[in-house]
Amino acid sequence: MPTGIVGEFLELKAETDADVLAMQCGDFYEFFADDAELVADELDLTVSQKSSHGSSYPMAGVPLTELTPYLRALVERGYRVAVADQYETDDGGHAREIVRVVTPGTLLETSDDDARYLATVVAGEDDGRVGDEAVSGEAVSGETVSGGNTHPIGIAFADVTTGRFLVTELDGWADLRAELYRFDPAEVVPGPTLRNDDAFLEAVREDLTGTLSVFDAEAFAPGRAAHAVRDQFGASIANSVGLDSQPATRAAGAALAYVDETGAGVLASMTRLTGYAATDHVELDATTQRNLELTETMRGEATGSLLEAIDHTVTAAGGRLLREWLIRPKRDREALERRLDAVDALVGATLERDRITTILEDAYDLERLAARTTSGSAGARALVSIRDTLALLPELVDAVEETSLSSTPVANVLARPDRDGARALREELEDALADDPPKTKTEGGLLCRGYDPELDELIERHESAREWIDTLAEREKRAHGLSHVTVDRNKTDGYYIQVGKSVADEVPAHYREIKTLKNSKRFVTDELVEREREVLRVEEARAELEYELFEALREQVAESAALVQDVGRALATLDALTSLATHAASEDWTRPTLTDARELAVTAGRHPVVEQTTDFVPNDLRLDADRGFLIVTGPNMSGKSTYMRQAALIQLLAQAGSFVPAREAHVGLVDGIYTRVGALDELAQGRSTFMVEMQELSNILHSATADSLVILDEVGRGTATYDGIAIAWAATEYLHNEVRARTLFATHYHELTTLSDHLSRVANVHVAVDERDGDVTFLRTVRDGPTDRSYGVHVADLAGVPAPVVDRADRVLDRLREEKAIEARGDTTGGETTQAVFDLSAGSFATGSDDSGVGDGGSANGTAAGETGADGESDAGGTSPADADGSSADGDVTDPAARAVLEELADLDLAETPPIELVSLVDAWQDRVTEAAEPSHEG
Ligand code: ADP
Repeated sequence: MPTGIVGEFLELKAETDADVLAMQCGDFYEFFADDAELVADELDLTVSQKSSHGSSYPMAGVPLTELTPYLRALVERGYRVAVADQYETDDGGHAREIVRVVTPGTLLETSDDDARYLATVVAGEDDGRVGDEAVSGEAVSGETVSGGNTHPIGIAFADVTTGRFLVTELDGWADLRAELYRFDPAEVVPGPTLRNDDAFLEAVREDLTGTLSVFDAEAFAPGRAAHAVRDQFGASIANSVGLDSQPATRAAGAALAYVDETGAGVLASMTRLTGYAATDHVELDATTQRNLELTETMRGEATGSLLEAIDHTVTAAGGRLLREWLIRPKRDREALERRLDAVDALVGATLERDRITTILEDAYDLERLAARTTSGSAGARALVSIRDTLALLPELVDAVEETSLSSTPVANVLARPDRDGARALREELEDALADDPPKTKTEGGLLCRGYDPELDELIERHESAREWIDTLAEREKRAHGLSHVTVDRNKTDGYYIQVGKSVADEVPAHYREIKTLKNSKRFVTDELVEREREVLRVEEARAELEYELFEALREQVAESAALVQDVGRALATLDALTSLATHAASEDWTRPTLTDARELAVTAGRHPVVEQTTDFVPNDLRLDADRGFLIVTGPNMSGKSTYMRQAALIQLLAQAGSFVPAREAHVGLVDGIYTRVGALDELAQGRSTFMVEMQELSNILHSATADSLVILDEVGRGTATYDGIAIAWAATEYLHNEVRARTLFATHYHELTTLSDHLSRVANVHVAVDERDGDVTFLRTVRDGPTDRSYGVHVADLAGVPAPVVDRADRVLDRLREEKAIEARGDTTGGETTQAVFDLSAGSFATGSDDSGVGDGGSANGTAAGETGADGESDAGGTSPADADGSSADGDVTDPAARAVLEELADLDLAETPPIELVSLVDAWQDRVTEAAEPSHEG
């Protein structure tokens, strides 16, 4: 073990579980050994060598005053950085100790505007066993949260940069994933059980960009956590929303302990705890958040997301809030109506809206500034920003009161913070702070005159002492007839009189020479030395007093952190509301009528993002009690998925309190929106497998309720045709009969469209295309009824595959359908489950007589849906169309290339070929057939 400075470094490093240690050595923070290499790699620092007792160690350093940007860069890359400061020991030596561990979730000095959450998560099953586990390091009885048990989970989200602190209890694994995905925390600290739960850890790594950290298991213990919460928020908070749950309290307590322990000093900015129930918000599982591209596209870009399309906020805090509204839509109708009232009022008040926006453009981020005052990192300029932003409040009140907005919820937003308190604080800051204080806190000039009599006196004395010195050169010139005299000051010589060499011999006798330079000499006089002492004394006293007063002022602002946050929140709310109104006004959006009915009725609806870049064709949508399940058909690229996403986004926007892109919309509130998007899109991105598709479907079937909105964009496409259709069929029945959720289901299984004959609330719609003269025009219009043809062969036709091939394909398809049938299970309304048989060969339901044999799935024709896939396999092998027909292709096809294509087509096992392969096969066939048809081009 090396001794000396490197030894001290390594010792401290061993004390902490941080990834990197920055240790103060005089005017620098130094990194040694591995840490030096790491920092040099990450941040482009130069590495030198430090020898210590015969060995040599890599060393890198940054000046004391420049640590922050390096710290930020390291932490934003996911490292935990410990900072050790140097202090003087009693015997005059130096020692160092770790004062702070900066982690991704507790980084105050962040460089972007987004919220930055620390999440603590605790599973409810391990009460009272925390201590044991911490020692044994094993999960309790092998039971894990991800293993499907239903113990409640406590979760807390703390944003140290703004003081936001949210706590809730969740029901299980899916909710936890969804909630984590929603908040996208920078750091996740799992409780003692979860941190040993591999599935949990893996899911976090997969879903989130944040860092996983381990923390003292004791902090999650119920008693200790409850104590921490009481300490922070007072005894009365313990019974408030969310905290009646023990897991939630444990998560909250652990988060507080973690923030405290890492030493960022921002605990005080956690002024308020917001408990919420999972049922306050529309459920959006992680997949749905991704699919709907709320804050980023599936490719991970902000451009093209819903947020980016509608965001007109002008402040960082407003942007954060708008984002929160989108990812946490509400269920509370009254609250939504209030928000809509405000947006409505602002839509109609163009001039006022402009004025509000102009005022808000000057606002600083009060939530962030408040946190900086409590951590003590705020300088005078930060306080000036607070002062100037508080001053906007009365301006905004002016812009709202005595206008059309005066008795609307917009006015209430501004009435919420304690305005008198805000004014008093602002006046205090105005009286205290200099207009344009310097960046550094210790050089004076922070405060203005008239604030403190003692300070005024020091400033007076300082200035008159300076004045004597400032005018000295002139006086000396005159008194002694000297030319070339200047009076100046530097660190080593202090104040001096500098005389040019040519006249240096003429100086009076009381000048004492202190230095000879090339062209001049420096002198002092007794009086100058005396005055200098006075200046230095006063200067020091002034700086000291000023800094003391400044700290007291900052302390005072820190004590008002909650007030500053409130004003910040009000400004952010106004910004977000104004943004919604601006968008609604410019894009001609309409106020949705919120209802409690199970409906979604939209007239001339548009897709909020697509309409910005496309000449969009508006479409109607009607989902209600009698028509709760729409099967959406239409060729590829006709607009099915746009239509369905548009429905989900209109629902979501309405529950975010926004206007919606439609002429008219009646929106029955939902408890959750669930989506699963076509395997094709996802397969192309190499993300989805059939297993993932089925997991998503499973989650929807488990989670959705009669009050949910479900969007299914192709189901069963990732597998062979018969498996796929079987699953799609069964899922439709289940959603219609059991779950009864409002559902939009786009499918290429044309067979499903016949379900409308049998399932009472199923209806068909299709996206129309115009096929006149062999040309296909996408009309983008959604009409009632199914498409007239089935998907695959139809697309081949549309794509211009030669008629013989298409005709042949049609016959092959018929052949495959032969002797296939699916029973349909109907509603249980009226007591009995109705049954019917769908005959795949006829493409319709079989008539009356067949019904009897089907109920138990035992009839020859009535194979149960689930078995069809297996059957498909053997059928395709045994009586493949090619075998049955012989290999002869149609006699009138003479071209060898076309014949070869036909033969391949005949041999193709449709049941075993995923659609994505079919598409490329058809593409290749088409190429070969067209080439064969035009040989003359080469000759
Ligand atoms: P599908 O799901 O049927 O394959 P998409 O929904 O992906 O089709 O739409 C295909 C293309 O049509 C997209 O580029 C989309 O922007 C455009 N589109 C869809 N609906 C409309 C509409 N109503 N008006 C204008 N363009 C639309």
